[in-house]
Amino acid sequence: MKKSPPVPLITPDGKRCDGRAFDELRPIELEVGVLKNADGSAMIRQGKNIIVAAVYGPRELHPKHLALPDRAVLRCRYHMAPFSVYGERKSPAPTRREIELSKVIREALEPAIFLELFPRCAIDVYIEVLQADGGTRCASIVAASLALADAGIPLRDLVAAVAVGKVQGHIVLDINHLEDEYGEGDMPVAMMPTRGVITLFQADGVWTPDEIKYALELARKGIMKIYELQKEALRKKYEKVIEEVEVGV
Ligand code: UDP
Repeated sequence: MKKSPPVPLITPDGKRCDGRAFDELRPIELEVGVLKNADGSAMIRQGKNIIVAAVYGPRELHPKHLALPDRAVLRCRYHMAPFSVYGERKSPAPTRREIELSKVIREALEPAIFLELFPRCAIDVYIEVLQADGGTRCASIVAASLALADAGIPLRDLVAAVAVGKVQGHIVLDINHLEDEYGEGDMPVAMMPTRGVITLFQADGVWTPDEIKYALELARKGIMKIYELQKEALRKKYEKVIEEVEVGV
């Protein structure tokens, strides 16, 4: 049986433990081009989550025997800093969870990339979670997708993502750590928003078919809002580049 949460997950006035409505995202800040040495980079702050994504490539793949003759290989590494979690520090060595998340994040991003344009190459995505508060795989996908765009890698669409959850029988958008730990269900979803293609769908807990339908629609609405923020973050980066070029002239 699950322990009871340290604070009520749903307050008597129908709000969540952090004061949000059931269909409300956490505050999200996105910034593109945060690392000078990467080909592309982005940072996301989503509630208390702070995550940086860095992209290198397309570049020659080593070891060469892993190269594919007809497309690039996408490699992703999701890593949580030892100081990123509540309570005890996380071991710096890769955990099974991090290996699994690296795989699902890669699979969520892969359909959006024109990998066939870069045979025998590698595209490397490094994700560092500096502070974690639930929904980090989805926030990582949002940042990584921006970092890929920042690296100039041709994309079919950006990928946006959010986790919905079931908390005391209510379906809620963008769950935080407490809702993830003490809620009854967790459903991370990623999409290529303009194409309406789902690239990640996972679910923990017990969901009825109607709940799944409702949760997916709630996730889609959240994803469309995040997608707008992603486009705005990219626009801001290029406005800055234009300013720098004009000053340089
Ligand atoms: N978490 C933690 N320590 C760990 C792994 C996870 O404190 O070693 C927390 C962290 O806040 C994370 C949350 O548990 O965001 C939920 O983790 P989950 O595996 O569900 O992945 P996520 O929701 O981050 O995609």
